[in-house]
Amino acid sequence: MAGEPQDDCLFCKIVAGSIPATIVRETDTTVAFRDINPQAPTHVLVIPKAHHRDAAALATAAPELAADVLRETQAVADDEKLESYRIIFNTGSGAGQTVWHAHAHVLGGRGLEWPPG
Ligand code: 5GP
Ligand code: ZN
Repeated sequence: MAGEPQDDCLFCKIVAGSIPATIVRETDTTVAFRDINPQAPTHVLVIPKAHHRDAAALATAAPELAADVLRETQAVADDEKLESYRIIFNTGSGAGQTVWHAHAHVLGGRGLEWPPG
């Protein structure tokens, strides 16, 4: 069911603490942690604690929670003193989504080309 923890989900395991992560922020509804394979000096993932498969599903099922995630991306950028940064929700395998628990990438600390690859 949408929102329920999934036994086979890596990010649900990070939320539960059964897989370690470098957590930089936590709220009642969200967790932010450093990406294990950083693509920029700051590369933090912000996730809802509840399981939703991607950003679209999250926004449809739980719009207030989607807003919590977005608010936390701003808080991460502030903590990391990023003037400019990029928020990415890879959605679908063709766009590079590999973990099926909604997550915002916060990337910054270097020049970011536009358009992205
Ligand atoms: P996606 O490709 O789905 O948009 O993003 C998934 C991200 O999760 C990737 O950037 C990947 O490096 C990161 N990742 C995968 N496994 C782990 C892990 O065990 N710990 C952390 N911190 N990040 C992970
Ligand atoms: Zn999950």
